[in-house]
Amino acid sequence: GEVLLDVQDLSVDYLTLNGAVRAVSNASFTLRRGEILGLAGESGSGKSTLTTALLRLQRSPAVTVGGTVLYHGEDGSVLDLVPRTDKELRRLRWSSLAIVMQSAMDALNPVKRLGAQFVDVLREHDPRMTTKEALRRAGDLLTLSGIPRDRLDSFPHEMSGGMRQRSLISLALACDPDLVVMDEPTTAVDVVMQRTIMSQVLRLQRELGFSIIFVTHDLSLLLELSDRLAIMYAGKIVEIGPAEELYRRPRHPYTKALRDSFPPLHAPLVEMHGIPGSAPDLRNLPAGCAFADRCPEAFDLCGTQRPPLVAVGDQVDAACHLHHADREPDAAPESVKG
Ligand code: SF4
Ligand code: MG
Repeated sequence: GEVLLDVQDLSVDYLTLNGAVRAVSNASFTLRRGEILGLAGESGSGKSTLTTALLRLQRSPAVTVGGTVLYHGEDGSVLDLVPRTDKELRRLRWSSLAIVMQSAMDALNPVKRLGAQFVDVLREHDPRMTTKEALRRAGDLLTLSGIPRDRLDSFPHEMSGGMRQRSLISLALACDPDLVVMDEPTTAVDVVMQRTIMSQVLRLQRELGFSIIFVTHDLSLLLELSDRLAIMYAGKIVEIGPAEELYRRPRHPYTKALRDSFPPLHAPLVEMHGIPGSAPDLRNLPAGCAFADRCPEAFDLCGTQRPPLVAVGDQVDAACHLHHADREPDAAPESVKG
């Protein structure tokens, strides 16, 4: 499909008293219209930093230090979001880019009825819209999310956590955005409610056609929902490709370890392995591959050289020395011949 977002070499630093720490390093990927991209990785791997930087929502001490985020508008225009001012970005929020974060409690106004909050957002975006029209649109979106229309009269505290979260998602969709970023959107609710909410999100997505960048630590949920997956480790995308393919045939040993540490949803239970060791200190990354001291397949090169992200298969990129051309058995005939 059509490209919506084209991210090239996006890097984000955290400025500290002891110098800058690279939290996201040269992230590059594209997102197509209507596509669901899942971002996976342990906490601290840079997932949230990357998504807030994409939407230009990062706050000090996080600073975007390089790269481009090209947003392709429906009218054929291309806009780099990185150098945009807050004022320019405000125009894009809601109508083009929306975000749903983990805490619905903070995002909904506690002293306003739900309906009034929809009216505010919709009329700020389109002042010609009447209150009646705005409420009708709000009711339609709530209904699509499985919430009765009469909840427009409720205050947030009169609703359950799950209902608040679904209301927030509906609100994010109010102005028909092209991209919705969901960062741990369901961690505040129980597992059953998480599943319910995400299946409703999928229904909405099919109905309305927006793209999603979905961040969660729940890999089985990601696998179920995403078209493509990006795996992050120590601030870098280490593997990206079709979700099915990454699950069935992970190229990067970290992807494999992550997969094996989660139970698949609709499959027989397998033995679970945590990933031994812990992620490296971003202030003091090793010279070679950041995963080297946890990697069961590490070899000499891994300790000295950083593996670049390169194409390793059809639509799959990985950053691992195992998959560089000169390591592939069929590319090393001399060792085959003996
Ligand atoms: Fe393991 Fe080496 Fe690949 Fe890093 S580059 S994941 S250490 S095999
Ligand atoms: Mg996070």
